[in-house]
Amino acid sequence: TIAFLNGEYMPLSEAKISPMDRGFLFGDGIYEVIPTYSGNPVGFIGHTSRMAQGLKAIEIANPYTVEEWQIILSSLVEKNVALIESENIGIYFHVSRGADTKRFHAYPKNIAPTVFGFAFEIAPPQPTAKEDAKPFKVALEQDKRWQRCHIKSTSLLGNVMHYQAGVDAGVNETILYNSEGMITEASSCNVFIVKDGCISTPPLNHELLPGITRAIAIEAFKHAGLVVTETWFSKAELLEADEVWLTSSSKEVAPVVEVDGKPIGTGEVGEVWEKAIKAYHAYKFKA
Ligand code: PLP
Repeated sequence: TIAFLNGEYMPLSEAKISPMDRGFLFGDGIYEVIPTYSGNPVGFIGHTSRMAQGLKAIEIANPYTVEEWQIILSSLVEKNVALIESENIGIYFHVSRGADTKRFHAYPKNIAPTVFGFAFEIAPPQPTAKEDAKPFKVALEQDKRWQRCHIKSTSLLGNVMHYQAGVDAGVNETILYNSEGMITEASSCNVFIVKDGCISTPPLNHELLPGITRAIAIEAFKHAGLVVTETWFSKAELLEADEVWLTSSSKEVAPVVEVDGKPIGTGEVGEVWEKAIKAYHAYKFKA
């Protein structure tokens, strides 16, 4: 496939960075994953503004304007669509602080950031009939990451270890709870529950990523007349929910049927999920 590196397009196998890059040495960078379907991105403005906020938080100058990011995204889709042989393409953007001559913790002054992008195949849009959906099973663990989970940092070891715990348990993801036993998010997704027809997701704070899919889904559900609130819920409330869903750019709104070995609701994909995914599809390109 064709990658973007520091202003140029090249085969991914030819894209090379310095081992002194602070993204490599410290995980000192910000990234985004933007889904596109038949060339149409979902949540482009949300993704680029979250990236701008993350870069600001770690004091890296945003190397491009929104219009320039838009051109890079479209070019990566266009150059890769035939190679990937799919209309479902994820675009990865990554800005690290760049390469220094020394390995020293403090932010070096006057170094050029490393800007990287590539394209990869993502799952097709979620089906709208529950019989066709892939049901997820998830593990449950105490969140052992840092106190700045709202920053979409490339330092993902905490997330990787939580995700791997799920893989080791033979499931697809790991849902996380904080020291008070309240659900925050999953290792690579946000979490929603349904109880008695009411949809809830944890409110935003430093313990979770402000997911773009989460935001679009909330708007889409409201638009469709579904009841949705941003409220904390506990591990016990998660396990007693009628339905549990995960949201992310690559999964859209995905139904969960088992948490920590226990069935959720009937143990099958729920009725409200069908309404939710239809509402999401009807709205996602308008967000
Ligand atoms: N939470 C975490 C920790 C993530 O890594 C991600 C996405 O990769 C999400 C939530 C979902 O965010 P988005 O919907 O913007 O993809």
